[in-house]
Amino acid sequence: MGCFALATQPRPMAMRRAGLLGRHYASPFRLLCRQISTEPQAAVDRLKESGLLKTQGLIGGKWIDAYDGKTIQVQNPATGDVITSVPCMGRNETTSAISSAYNTFSSWSKLTASERSKCLRKWYDLIISHKEELALLITLEQGKPLKESLGEVSYGAAFIEFFAEEAKRIYGDIIAPTIDDRRLFVLKQPVGVVGAITPWNFPLAMITRKVGPALACGCTVVVKPSEYTPLTALAAAELALQAGIPPGALNIVMGNASDIGDTLLESTQVRKITFTGSTAVGKKLMAGSASTVKKISLELGGNAPCIVFDDADLDVAVKGSLAAKFRNSGQTCVCANRILVQEGIYEKFANAFAKAVRGLQVGNGLIEGTVQGPLINEAALEKVETIVRDATAKGADVVIGGKRHSLGMTFYEPTVLGNVSKDMLIFRQEVFGPVAPLMRFKTEEEAIQMANDTNAGLAAYIFTMSMPRSWRVSEALEYGLVGVNEGLISTEVAPFGGFKQSGLGREGSKYGMDEYLEIKYVCLGNLKGT
Ligand code: NAP
Repeated sequence: MGCFALATQPRPMAMRRAGLLGRHYASPFRLLCRQISTEPQAAVDRLKESGLLKTQGLIGGKWIDAYDGKTIQVQNPATGDVITSVPCMGRNETTSAISSAYNTFSSWSKLTASERSKCLRKWYDLIISHKEELALLITLEQGKPLKESLGEVSYGAAFIEFFAEEAKRIYGDIIAPTIDDRRLFVLKQPVGVVGAITPWNFPLAMITRKVGPALACGCTVVVKPSEYTPLTALAAAELALQAGIPPGALNIVMGNASDIGDTLLESTQVRKITFTGSTAVGKKLMAGSASTVKKISLELGGNAPCIVFDDADLDVAVKGSLAAKFRNSGQTCVCANRILVQEGIYEKFANAFAKAVRGLQVGNGLIEGTVQGPLINEAALEKVETIVRDATAKGADVVIGGKRHSLGMTFYEPTVLGNVSKDMLIFRQEVFGPVAPLMRFKTEEEAIQMANDTNAGLAAYIFTMSMPRSWRVSEALEYGLVGVNEGLISTEVAPFGGFKQSGLGREGSKYGMDEYLEIKYVCLGNLKGT
């Protein structure tokens, strides 16, 4: 997606959404979309009044336009309406943001842990006191139902609260010396300037999960949010300034992703890259970090198995699988991507699951009762269509759904596919949409083999009433997170991250601090001297 000079212009996507292009946006759908778009306008007005609808980047504590005046439109995926425009920044603005973070590092890192902790705690309090405005922003620019957005604000804020506390718990070590007139110490020190690149699916939480520990450790940060969802990041940054986090400690640039990414990678002042997003971009960043040997943390794509054993509690398994699959319309890295069901419970589970899916209300996330919003963009929708087409061509049954929703735009029907097999694309690729493929298995060994037969290794789910099986299977799964009889397992107090090509490093929990700290060994010698 590109930037636009001076005045913002409609992009093909916007034109398509407005019914100016393509076959899917004929008049009845447009009419419906226009009707529901009156609600978003009221939300935008409310945000303007609150002062949280920021439309400029943040560099050195100043709100800044792109140096050449280019902008990008931010659209509501539920309606196609343009919410506002933000600067389309690139190399020059990123260089300024890096300098500002670099210059602020010396003062921010020298504050006491307690002082940094107080700033973070105040930021947390402000996020919570503006919970509704932030949730409205998330729903407007990302599309998830308002209830889920409120949940994301609580979840995202929790990382700031947790790391405000962890700031005070950075411990070093004293090691027994091997020579008697020496003393050996281990210090933990902040890495330096951090470049944080985040995706659109959690516009707040993916930022706070990185910025919270970075600031707590004494690092300063340049954040690049997704061009689809920059507004939540900008609002959170405004609250950070209000909380007393000094100008330059947190900078936000957005626009040309590869220019911003390359500038961060090439800079010797940036000492760490932390990224959440697709595996393809993660690999590019990993390769690009080599020339300056940066520390790197990667939270990449998943392909989560959800294994339902014959001995599962059916209600628990249906509820858990539904939550693991359909949260954010299937657009999370930990969404169940393959539901593996043991043959003895397959029919019962498939019927109960399909019944539950039939009850999921699709619509604009601002409308009460909506539990499934739109997909983020046309490309995401087309990817879902391709994957479903491939599965049905290879023999999968459409139990329910299987096509674009009659609401138009990027809405897709919550879908269940039966009799899915390993030769289908959906077995290998993250569908990142509301499609639940059901696959049969016979034995525990077969389920484990199927579950591990992927390059991804982020989240996995098991449903069983057997305690020994819970242990056995949890240990055998090559995944960074395992939910047993539970479909929603992320929390700020537990480590989040993947095995294999799902990433490097961990976020959240005490382990999340290590990613932003260097270990320094100090040898104090000649103690017998004066
Ligand atoms: P994406 O296309 O990789 O984008 C992620 C971020 O990278 C965005 O800010 C994007 O900018 C930026 N970007 C794109 N190309 C870049 C480049 N060449 N250099 C530097 N930055 C670049 O991923 P997405 O579609 O937004 O997110 C979905 C993916 O994220 C899924 O695979 C999902 O599984 C994964 N994810 C993983 C986790 C986790 O914790 N493991 C959590 C959430 C999502 P623009 O958007 O501005 O182009």
